[in-house]
Amino acid sequence: MAKAIQSIRGFADILPERTPTWRFVEQSIQEVLGAYGYEEIRLPYLEQTDLFARSIGEVTDIVEKEMYSFEDRNGESLSLRPEGTAGCVRAGIQHGLFHGRQPRLWYGGAMFRYERPQKGRYRQFHQIGAEVFGLAGPDIDAEMILMTGRMLRAIGLDDAELQLNTLGTVEARAAYRARLVEYFEQYPERLDDDSKRRLSTNPLRILDSKNPDMQDIIADAPSLMDHLDDESRAHFDAVQAALRASGLSFQVNPRLVRGLDYYTRTVFEWVSDRLGAQGTVCAGGRYDGLVEQIGGRPTPAIGFAVGLERLVTLVEESVGAHASPAPHAYLVALGDGVQAAALALGERLRDALPGLRLQANAGGGSAKSQFKRADRSGAPVALVVAEEELAAGEVTVKPLRGEGEQQRVDESTLVQLLDDYIKAG
Ligand code: ATP
Ligand code: MG
Repeated sequence: MAKAIQSIRGFADILPERTPTWRFVEQSIQEVLGAYGYEEIRLPYLEQTDLFARSIGEVTDIVEKEMYSFEDRNGESLSLRPEGTAGCVRAGIQHGLFHGRQPRLWYGGAMFRYERPQKGRYRQFHQIGAEVFGLAGPDIDAEMILMTGRMLRAIGLDDAELQLNTLGTVEARAAYRARLVEYFEQYPERLDDDSKRRLSTNPLRILDSKNPDMQDIIADAPSLMDHLDDESRAHFDAVQAALRASGLSFQVNPRLVRGLDYYTRTVFEWVSDRLGAQGTVCAGGRYDGLVEQIGGRPTPAIGFAVGLERLVTLVEESVGAHASPAPHAYLVALGDGVQAAALALGERLRDALPGLRLQANAGGGSAKSQFKRADRSGAPVALVVAEEELAAGEVTVKPLRGEGEQQRVDESTLVQLLDDYIKAG
């Protein structure tokens, strides 16, 4: 036997026993998006590397060391998307979606980052994200955050904590950045190599460091809150007031800076303490400068993404995995001569009964083995056709679970019987 090929590290198969939970999570989230008037946009998985460098930021973990980048056959540098916002902004500019409109868009699918795989962290992972363009006010920030709360409740997650911060305007950040550099420069011996490098490139990112040895100097660092411009402060106050008015509780976390460079003003994360270290299930924020930065007209915007792997794990660990629905019936065909007729019967039943889940035996087998498969399918009844039934234009209906007599019925009676099973679920 040839050596079996394994999947790539960090790229998981999602096996059939888990896909019903995935679908539950995806559908619940999509219903909530529909309830707020969002429209779906589908975006490519590959983009020019430059798009991500210019949007996410040259000096972020993602762009520096996590992208799957390669040259295509024309020598052009392409990257698998590590997140969805950049592509969504690119598409909106390219197709003129922002002109005179305020689109509310959502997308879903796989994202790719070369990270160290561990529980809740993969190299291919899935997000559903949403973006709103052309609205600058705090009302849409609050509505979007409320919507994410509703999404988490829709999948039964009601104990996640909402963390909120504001990063201010680009100008306020520049002023704060200077203060931060001054502060960290007092402790050159305390900074790790990454942070030393970031001191000149992107000092805010030092606040995001996970290095335990640096947590105390990070805790004492000057706070961005003290350097906010008046307009950003008013914006942030209004977001908080709107959330309170709708009864959503939150925690202001001044250290929340997010891993991507493009954020301005409102940023937020939903964190669950049931996932260990990878506790963030939803993250987002405002990015008023990004559209212009990648070649569009100035357009305020805000967005977020949820990480589906983490949400699915939470559902599985709390209420348990969702199961695939069992078929309504299993079709048993006894005798070589009846196979084709049984197939045709199956087609007629599916024509007559939209919503019918009928699993037909394939590959022959003795009565014993076919009934064993019927039983394993989870169907409540077996429909049996043999020469005798065929000749009479009838089908034997054999209950597989609970009470109930075996009976032989004609096809129109069978349709009614099955209709009852469909209505029962
Ligand atoms: P983290 O701090 O966990 O690395 P992040 O800030 O890099 O997350 P975002 O880029 O904002 O995450 O992505 C939004 C969400 O996508 C995260 O909150 C998380 O739920 C999920 N996510 C991000 N990276 C991964 C990954 N490698 N594997 C699985 N889920 C991920
Ligand atoms: Mg990350």
